[in-house]
Amino acid sequence: MPRPILATVHPEALRHNLNQARVRAPDARVWAVVKANAYGHGIERCFDALRSADGFALLDLAEAERLRALDWRGPILLLEGVFEPRDLELCSRLHLWHAVHCIEQIDWLAAHKTQVPHRVFLKLNSGMNRLGFTPTAFRAAWARLNALPQVEEISLMTHFSDADGPRGIAHQVAVFEQATADLPGERTLCNSAALLRHASTPLRGDGVTTLAGDWVREGIALYGCAPDYPENTAAGWDLQPTMTLASRLIGVQQLQPGDTVGYGSAFAAEAPMRVGVVACGYADGYPRHAPTGTPVLVAGVRTRVLGRVSMDMLAVDLSPLDAAGVPAEVGTEVVLWGRSASGAVLAADEVAASAGTIAYELLCAVAPRVPFSPPP
Ligand SMILES: *Cc1c(COP(=O)(O)O)cnc(C)c1O
Repeated sequence: MPRPILATVHPEALRHNLNQARVRAPDARVWAVVKANAYGHGIERCFDALRSADGFALLDLAEAERLRALDWRGPILLLEGVFEPRDLELCSRLHLWHAVHCIEQIDWLAAHKTQVPHRVFLKLNSGMNRLGFTPTAFRAAWARLNALPQVEEISLMTHFSDADGPRGIAHQVAVFEQATADLPGERTLCNSAALLRHASTPLRGDGVTTLAGDWVREGIALYGCAPDYPENTAAGWDLQPTMTLASRLIGVQQLQPGDTVGYGSAFAAEAPMRVGVVACGYADGYPRHAPTGTPVLVAGVRTRVLGRVSMDMLAVDLSPLDAAGVPAEVGTEVVLWGRSASGAVLAADEVAASAGTIAYELLCAVAPRVPFSPPP
């Protein structure tokens, strides 16, 4: 028998979450953001459930090739555009739409020989100061692109730094509206947080156009996590977990008061208790910084991690199961995040918050040694 750890992708949850985007932005088209191998789920494993999306957005050219290999003929957007001039050949050949965020990318396009003019998404730096043209440089970039025979259509794009938090998006929306006023082209502004929290905010003050614009770029919400946890939860947004990381107990220890668990003796029992040892550690992608108290489901019962996470194992408190008379022994199911066979759910958001990170990182970090169901 292989080591009993397994990650499971839930296609019906992906479908449900994608549909939630349609409900929240009924007039926009939806990019399913599948960068980082579909947030760790595997592009091939998610493809069928997401094929009703209007397009796929990612940034790795090899991942774009994998989508075309799945026979996806619809839009694919490279969120960071091309990294070197010869990438443009692949864009021409595979009909990839690409962001243009810097002068160099315009120079490369101007020198690119192609029969097929490209659709580009001109990116405005509206305040995040990561990628994009400053508001003062934006119009000149647009005019230059517009004059290129290599360019068929220019869409307008920006990205928010605080859609999930108290600072919000108003300051960036104002910059976007001013920089793009009177420019034609489709608009895309929203990531998951902006989609969930701000999609119906009016844009350009005309009361008709909303922030959802022509395209929303949905990532983490598609994968069933709340971008603004803990202010809101995935269940509160009516999102379902799309990945379960599950394993089993491979050992049980009876502790007496004063007995400790694991490296550094980071946990000490105060009363007699049983501890379960789980076949999952940081070499599987479970966060090593998850402290005592991090939630976990054992046989569908919510309990807590104890002591330090090791490379291949972690320990869990079996007291709640023993108190409830739920059997826990070698072989009992443990859910690190996702859905238990009992139907109980543990949000990756909760585990991430306990470990001082975000669900994005947990989903992307599931290690190559963890087998997936279904297989690729
Ligand atoms: C990753 C990414 C998204 C999706 O972000 P989520 O927070 O996962 O919804 C949207 N737009 C851009 C430019 C991105 O890089």
